[in-house]
Formats: sequence, C-alpha cells, structure tokens
Amino acid sequence: GHSMGVIGGALKNLGIGAQSKRGKFNVHMGGHPTYGLGAAGVFHPENFKGKANTPDWEILEDCCPFNLYHINENDELEWEGDKCANCLGCFGVMGPRGLMDIPPVQFDAVDAAIADACLGVEKAVGRDKVGYINMALDVSPRCDCANHADVPIVPHLGVFASKDAVAIDMACVDKAREAEGIKGSAAEMMEAHHAGDKKFEAAAATFHGQSEVTSINTGHEIGLGSREYELIECEPDSPERFRFPYDTRPSRQRFGERFEKFQVFPYDKYDGKGFNRLDVVDLDKVKHHYEDSPEITEVSESIHADGDD
Ligand code: SF4
Repeated sequence: GHSMGVIGGALKNLGIGAQSKRGKFNVHMGGHPTYGLGAAGVFHPENFKGKANTPDWEILEDCCPFNLYHINENDELEWEGDKCANCLGCFGVMGPRGLMDIPPVQFDAVDAAIADACLGVEKAVGRDKVGYINMALDVSPRCDCANHADVPIVPHLGVFASKDAVAIDMACVDKAREAEGIKGSAAEMMEAHHAGDKKFEAAAATFHGQSEVTSINTGHEIGLGSREYELIECEPDSPERFRFPYDTRPSRQRFGERFEKFQVFPYDKYDGKGFNRLDVVDLDKVKHHYEDSPEITEVSESIHADGDD
C-alpha cells in the first residue's frame, strides 16, 4: 500500500521511482493550476496564534525548502502559494496544526499522473525493454516513507511477473481483494478485512474517497497497458533446485578434514562428555505452562552439576 498512490506496485515504482527530481515535482502536481497545493490547498493563517504562543514557530518557516512561509512584522503567517512546487515538505507541519487543509483532489490527480509518468518511462527506455516483477509479500499498508512497518493487511499473495504494468497491478489488487485480511492489521482496524473488501483504499489511502484503481484505470485509458489479464500460475520447480545447503556433498566429505585439523568439541574435558552438565534434569517441569500447573513451578533449590548455584 501507499498513502498517496494507494497501491505501491509497478505503476508507482516507475511513475514516481523512475522519475527525475524535476519529474517528481511534475507528477506531484507542483504548480498545477487546479490540483497543485498552491491552487487547491486551503491556507488558514487565522489559526496561527503568534510567535509568543507558538514555541516551535521556527518550523513553520523552516519546513519549506522554497522559503514560501514567512511570519511578517505583524506576527502573521504568510504563504506564497503561487510558487509552491508540491515538495510535500510542509504537509506534516501545517496539516496537523490546522494551518493548511491538504486537498484530497491533489492525491487523486497524482494517482492518475503516476500512470502517465510510468508510460513516459517506458517510452524513454523503449516499450519492449520493460518488464515488471511485483513481490506481493509482506503487503504492508504503507511504503518505506512511513516511520513504521505495520502488520501486513493480507497474507503473502505471491510473486507476479508481466510486461504490462497495468495488468500486473490489477492482478495484485484483485488478489488482495479476494484474500481474507489479516487479524490485527490496518485492514481489520478499518473493517475492510473480509474477502471482497477494497483493502488498500481502506487501509493505505490517506483520504477517504481515494481509489485503489485510479492509476490502473488511467494506465488502461492512455494505452500503457490493460486491465484485462490472464493469470498463469507457475508450476513450482523441483525442490532439489532450492535445497539447503546448496553444496550437495555429505557432511563428512565437506567438514571431516577440517575437523581433523581443528577439533571444536572438547573431548578432553569431563570424561569425554565435553561439558559440566547434569546427567538428568526434569525437562517436563520446564515444559509446563505456569498458568496450567502453578503447583509445579515452585523452585526448591538451584542446582548445577558442579554443586554451585
Ligand atoms: S514545503 Fe513544498 S509543498 Fe509546502 S509550500 Fe513549500 S514547496 Fe509547497
């Protein structure tokens, strides 16, 4: 999942990940006359209560690398929104303080633009030179921008491969939707853990109303790929190929010579037993769950083989 892209699959990884720095501003709607933060964000300078009442007021200016927030000589907060590049630097500072309403429509527009940008990458490198592998494992609700990992929202879905970025993401979203959500995950918290629920929209999206198929549908419409796909399940290869250890020699052939050179087991100690241990201990006692048999957990004395505690 991804809080802005809703799904963090093939489209997002090329639509954002493979963009240049400048391209990322474009995809994030920097300067866009309708969907950019400068146009769609609702600034609330009236919620700034002055430097004296804002101990950390400096962060309000420091959060913008483009230096667009200022506290003027009248102790008022100003914003040059028309120059906003949508770097997202101020979102976590202004939003929680009630100084800026972050516009959900901007996120929708970014999700559509992600598919545009993905197509741009394919065109740049050659459309027949791109393939995708989605590792739908540990499907956490958020991406690595987040400061936490969280419980996966669905069990492992598998490893998907395709030459079509739209089809591969559609297949993953479908599989996640079909799956039962994991107990204790954000999907369950949002009551979207049932088979058939749209889990990314519920558990990953920042705003209610964002869609887990915006990028997919856009990609379908612009000719990047197709929502229609045929899922071909691969037959597992022979376990022999993946056995561990990979070295097929039996242990004596691998290690015998080395053990002759340097014996790690202390045969010379304790009559060949190697270590100072009791011959017999009460293993049943330590296997019991304390809550099931409290009477047998009493410790009468601590004993060690050499008689010391
Ligand atoms: S921090 Fe970034 S998003 Fe916020 S106003 Fe400055 S340029 Fe725009």
